[in-house]
Amino acid sequence: MTIDELIRKDTSFNESEFISKVNIVLIKTLSSIMLDNLNSVKHFLSPEVVDKVNLEIKNYKDKNECHMYDELNVSNTKINKITEDNEYYYIETSSTVKYLDYIISLDNNELVSGDNNNRIEKNYILSFKKLKSAVKANNVMKCPYCGNSLDINSDGQCHYCRKTFDLSKYDYILDRINR
Ligand SMILES: [Zn+2]
Repeated sequence: MTIDELIRKDTSFNESEFISKVNIVLIKTLSSIMLDNLNSVKHFLSPEVVDKVNLEIKNYKDKNECHMYDELNVSNTKINKITEDNEYYYIETSSTVKYLDYIISLDNNELVSGDNNNRIEKNYILSFKKLKSAVKANNVMKCPYCGNSLDINSDGQCHYCRKTFDLSKYDYILDRINR
């Protein structure tokens, strides 16, 4: 379907807000691989993506290495395709990602392989999905457990009661990454 058709069905959809969200999620996800910490992005990701990212981190860690996504920049994000089934809306996006792609040793932080001087360019295809039954959400929301204010763009965990916020009940989450 077209963006206009989606807006008629999913009335809270805003294209420019969605595109900036895609950029934030992509940058945070790749940075989390480099930093070995998914906490600031986990709530934007489906369980399958969390498993995939954790496996990538573990594969490098087992070799005592870290995959760097250094000087990361995302551009040209656009919507490729919008589809739906009975339960979900699906949005596929593409983005140009530039970064210094290299691997370092965790023993001494020295370069193992790759190039830490010249950025490479890759095209990332992301698939997002949103429950049709989702409730409209603002960027600043209240924690469903304790009522504390949450800023879902910065963190998915309530700073007061420490519970993780389930964004999939409210908004689009990243369902798949293809590169
Ligand atoms: Zn809370």
